[in-house]
Amino acid sequence: SKGILIQNVSKMFYNAEGEGIEALKPVNLDIKAGEFVAVIGPSGCGKSTLLNIIAGFESATAGSVWVDGEKITQPSIDRGMVFQQYALFPWLNVSENVEFGLKQMQVPAEERKKIVHSFLELVGLQEFANASIMALSGGMKQRVALARVFCTNPSIILMDEPFGALDALTRSMLQDELLAIWKEYEKTVVLITHSVQEALVLANRIVVITNRPGKIKLDIDINLPYPRD
Ligand code: ADP
Ligand code: ADP
Repeated sequence: SKGILIQNVSKMFYNAEGEGIEALKPVNLDIKAGEFVAVIGPSGCGKSTLLNIIAGFESATAGSVWVDGEKITQPSIDRGMVFQQYALFPWLNVSENVEFGLKQMQVPAEERKKIVHSFLELVGLQEFANASIMALSGGMKQRVALARVFCTNPSIILMDEPFGALDALTRSMLQDELLAIWKEYEKTVVLITHSVQEALVLANRIVVITNRPGKIKLDIDINLPYPRD
């Protein structure tokens, strides 16, 4: 996995009148390879903005983000994103969704098939390989999204409230699955959550951002042994 260095990253949004909305004060954060960082804070404090800048979906107004010593300028399949509303392709079935990034990477068809199969197995959806996305429950959709992001073997996984739309039982099941996958594949993870509980269960570091504009208020290591219940 790779580390992420966030140097003086700030963000202004401009409305139609040209007025600036300051979404992020300069943020500095040094995330080590293999860390699982939870970012918590109230709505509107700039969590998604920060994550989108790390992803390369949004550009910073000032400052820069470095991944393994390389300044990021655009999105990369090496920084996979998992969204709250899944963001699956509804016109593709389950295995085609998982396969998507592998196709972009021009992995040969034979190999793609094997990888998709193993990751569908990992998330317990092999029987749903040919199912329509529309036929799935929320928990199943998020499992597809997890398989889709992990199967391309990104160094960094970015997650924007991935379990926020799920019921408590599904959420706790998927949290366990995520932890198991994270430990097996040694990824660097940055996870946005509204839940202090979720941050404590999953992360080994918690960053608290407060509004407004967003600013890091607290940054703590919680190197507690797993499991933490
Ligand atoms: P959070 O993820 O913590 O809820 P966001 O990063 O979504 O916060 O938003 C931070 C601030 O930036 C908010 O005040 C929000 O209204 C503003 N903002 C976010 N995206 C845009 C945008 N595309 N245009 C204008 N303002 C935005
Ligand atoms: P949600 O709570 O968002 O609806 P779940 O993942 O809990 O999502 O799934 C809800 C229902 O979907 C389960 O009760 C089960 O009947 C079915 N389901 C989910 N995953 C599987 C699976 N791997 N195999 C068979 N059925 C499943």
